[in-house]
Amino acid sequence: MSSQPNAQRQVYLDHSATTPVRPEVLAAMLPYFAGKFGNASSIHRWGYEAREAINDAREKVASLIGASPSEILFTSGGTEADNLAIRGVAHARRSRGNHLITSQIEHHAVLHTFEVLQKEGFEVTFLPCDKYGLIDPDDVRKAIRKDTILVSIMHGQNEVGTVEPIKEIGEIAREHGALFHSDAVQSAGKIPIDVKELNVDLLTLSSHKIYGPKGVGALYVTKGVRLTPQVTGGAHERRMRAGTENVPGIVGFGEACRLAKAELPEESARLTKLRDKLIEGLLNEIPDVVLNGHPVLRLPHNVNVSVKYLEGESILLNLDRMGVAASSGSACTSGSLEPSHVLLAMGLSHETTHGSLRFSLGMSNTEEDINYVLEILPPIVEKLRAMSPLGPGSVL
Ligand SMILES: *Cc1c(COP(=O)(O)O)cnc(C)c1O
Repeated sequence: MSSQPNAQRQVYLDHSATTPVRPEVLAAMLPYFAGKFGNASSIHRWGYEAREAINDAREKVASLIGASPSEILFTSGGTEADNLAIRGVAHARRSRGNHLITSQIEHHAVLHTFEVLQKEGFEVTFLPCDKYGLIDPDDVRKAIRKDTILVSIMHGQNEVGTVEPIKEIGEIAREHGALFHSDAVQSAGKIPIDVKELNVDLLTLSSHKIYGPKGVGALYVTKGVRLTPQVTGGAHERRMRAGTENVPGIVGFGEACRLAKAELPEESARLTKLRDKLIEGLLNEIPDVVLNGHPVLRLPHNVNVSVKYLEGESILLNLDRMGVAASSGSACTSGSLEPSHVLLAMGLSHETTHGSLRFSLGMSNTEEDINYVLEILPPIVEKLRAMSPLGPGSVL
């Protein structure tokens, strides 16, 4: 690639979309594809070996969030865990009430599940947020009723990085006899989570956002809570999620959780430093850039800015040419020019939402990566703005 002198550096800044499987995790998984291939339900040594590996992984996942192993159900990912929590509670508790509470800024795995329940006849309150993407516990207090059976508010927002006050929200849910679910896919391994302290009854995790394999996740379900299974079949996962366990995936997820827990304090501080350097640099080096999300109550790995007068997509294409991977809005909506539902809920104008960029940092990123982005992005923006009809001096 010597003919492309500009594209030599590869900087992956899209860790909120997915992360690579780290070498230790891959090494832990490999024996379970072929040599140790048993079905964990079998009554022989191959089966016991698989069962033991799953038990061991369950302990590691539980330990990351202060749960006990019996409170962890393995699923095919964060999406399925969200579906199981929300639909599973709604269907199991329908006789107790018909009202559900969530927010306008949830991940689509949550939002679309509530929309389907709404069509089934449930009454759903979609709470707003403020301009920082924060949900006000007082709004939960005002919305909650005698017939509210479930509240679901995410922990760390995946697009703008705002960390929600879920401890307070969980307390309100508990006072009113409603169950509380939180999607913690983005916060797990990045900020400390203790499910008992945070007053959550159900919590969603995903492996591939924390350097584990894709296609595996978990739902924490506090003792005593029953869910209506969404996948029916055998008696796996305490009869709440049927299907032969994805043993290599679960083993990898366990190892990823163990490493995330061991490294959390140090890695979280390191990412926060890089994050703040990138935010400061972007705001200082490029005119008409605004930070999206909360300035302080923010995930350590999230940077989200709007570059005014431009489309995020055109910036992304130029960044990609220079070896930098980022995203605009969420991964699910980039590619379409639909403005992000999260930025719209925060009250940003359509112009500002269109120019949004998310950089999500991770293990591989260094200070040099941040310097590189701060070196190449200002001229990209300048070039694109010179060609754009939407600039501040525009006559349109
Ligand atoms: C990625 C993500 C999910 C979906 O998890 P999968 O394992 O990819 O299904 C759910 N919620 C949030 C906040 C996410 O970032």
